[in-house]
Amino acid sequence: MKHTEFKRIRDELMITVRHELTIEKIKKSGRSIPKGLQKPSKNTSDDVLRFCRDAVNAKKSNDRFTVELTVDELFVIASKTLRCPICGCALDYQRGIHCRKNNGASLDRKFNENVVNKDNVWVICSKCNTTKSDRTIDEFIEYMRTCLRNLDAAS
Ligand SMILES: [Zn+2]
Repeated sequence: MKHTEFKRIRDELMITVRHELTIEKIKKSGRSIPKGLQKPSKNTSDDVLRFCRDAVNAKKSNDRFTVELTVDELFVIASKTLRCPICGCALDYQRGIHCRKNNGASLDRKFNENVVNKDNVWVICSKCNTTKSDRTIDEFIEYMRTCLRNLDAAS
């Protein structure tokens, strides 16, 4: 077996194993498994890598950003992020960076800075990214608290 083939299969296995471990952890905690997590992820390491390349290139082609993030660094982050850290849905890396499907993976700048590096990005779902928009994490949390307060008051 060629080394690259071995690496690809190993990466795919790691992604599957991580998914299984996440399910196991949720089951042990007694919580119910979020809907998007019930089916095993179909993302392959090639899907994740393509997403990373496209996402880094898209940021690079935008004059607003100084991109220090490399494809390899993003790949390390993305292959550990199989579900959206905000809503918990299973991320879909297969449909590329322009996927507007609810659980399509998307690269988000946590603090909305113009310098993009491995410390200020994360991968969240397209729907959460649309909702978060240009808010920082703190602004987004404050926004959600306000929404809850207003909805509580209205009910
Ligand atoms: Zn989400």
